[in-house]
Amino acid sequence: MSQRDYYETLGVAKGASDSDIKKAYRKLALKHHPDKNPGDPEAEKQFKAVSEAYEVLADPERRKLYDQYGHDGLKARGYTGPSFHSVDDIFEQFSDIFEGSIFESFFGGGRRGRTRRGRAGRPGADLRVDLELAYEEVASGAKKRIELKRQAACENCSGSGARPGTTVEACPTCGGHGRVQQTQGFFSIQRTCPRCGGEGVYCPSPCGACRGEGTVAAKREVIIDVPAGIHDGVQLRLAGEGNAGVRGGPAGDLYCYIHVKPHEFFERHNDDIICEVPISFAEAALGCHIEVPTLRGKAKVTVPPGTQSGEFLRLKSQGFPNIDGYGVGNQLIKIVVETPQKLTPRMRELFEQLEELDEEEHSSRRKKFFQRLKDYFSL
Ligand SMILES: [Zn+2]
Ligand SMILES: [Zn+2]
Repeated sequence: MSQRDYYETLGVAKGASDSDIKKAYRKLALKHHPDKNPGDPEAEKQFKAVSEAYEVLADPERRKLYDQYGHDGLKARGYTGPSFHSVDDIFEQFSDIFEGSIFESFFGGGRRGRTRRGRAGRPGADLRVDLELAYEEVASGAKKRIELKRQAACENCSGSGARPGTTVEACPTCGGHGRVQQTQGFFSIQRTCPRCGGEGVYCPSPCGACRGEGTVAAKREVIIDVPAGIHDGVQLRLAGEGNAGVRGGPAGDLYCYIHVKPHEFFERHNDDIICEVPISFAEAALGCHIEVPTLRGKAKVTVPPGTQSGEFLRLKSQGFPNIDGYGVGNQLIKIVVETPQKLTPRMRELFEQLEELDEEEHSSRRKKFFQRLKDYFSL
């Protein structure tokens, strides 16, 4: 606790009126406002000092004690220092000063002034669901219907937790602040009120339907609009679809985790899909027509003569739509030439003939390879 004179700190005379004290505090709080002086520890110190002075002088009982006996008088009556610790506590505690004041126009709604705990209810918890999608659903986008178990506002008490006709009251333990102060030796610690769990309210006659909770378990059908092209492992956030808030608190969100089931034929690569198709030796040499599966049905593909194993053929725009709207991926068909493993006598005869011809008609690729090999060994 600062030992400076509180009147001096606020720059007012000892006999100043309540409204003069309030005015002086507003003026100084604005001057030393941490948002106006970011990263300036001296400003923060001043901000806290003027807030402490205001906390004492705005309270008639404390002011009287202070006027008569000074700092020692306050100490003797258990005021061992300001009830706030951080700048945020100050915003919370003096929110009436910061709300609807010049601070709003200065600092965009007095952001921290709105975080008073205990009066705005308790927010609902976030929920999670897991969603399995097939490749085809990812390609087209999908509307998935799920049944969700969650906490909904109690209809009997409209979510207040109080029996109809009664109201909730400020928690008697913390006086509605949601926090209690404990003094241990030199230290004064604030902690969440054990009675109300920080909510600041107490329900003298709880609603019978929800036992004062304000929410009841309910089932609800939710339709999840899955955008086309979504990736495995991402989460979709459905704002406000989680558990209902209590006593005016905001509802939680629903997080939907996307799992894309593996496909029998396809593998995803960014927005492209890859599909392996085996063909025979003869088909690779002579060329052929094959039918391949696509995400949207079947397609006929021409394999040109002389296609090598491992070569890709491309089906334009047969992949996934890009999730951000940048076009559509392609389908890549990986040709795998299958070497025959069991030869009939007739096949063996033909392959042998083929080999004889091959000796005379080396392909350019093999010719080059053997030439390079010879050079390599002769070094
Ligand atoms: Zn109820
Ligand atoms: Zn309480």
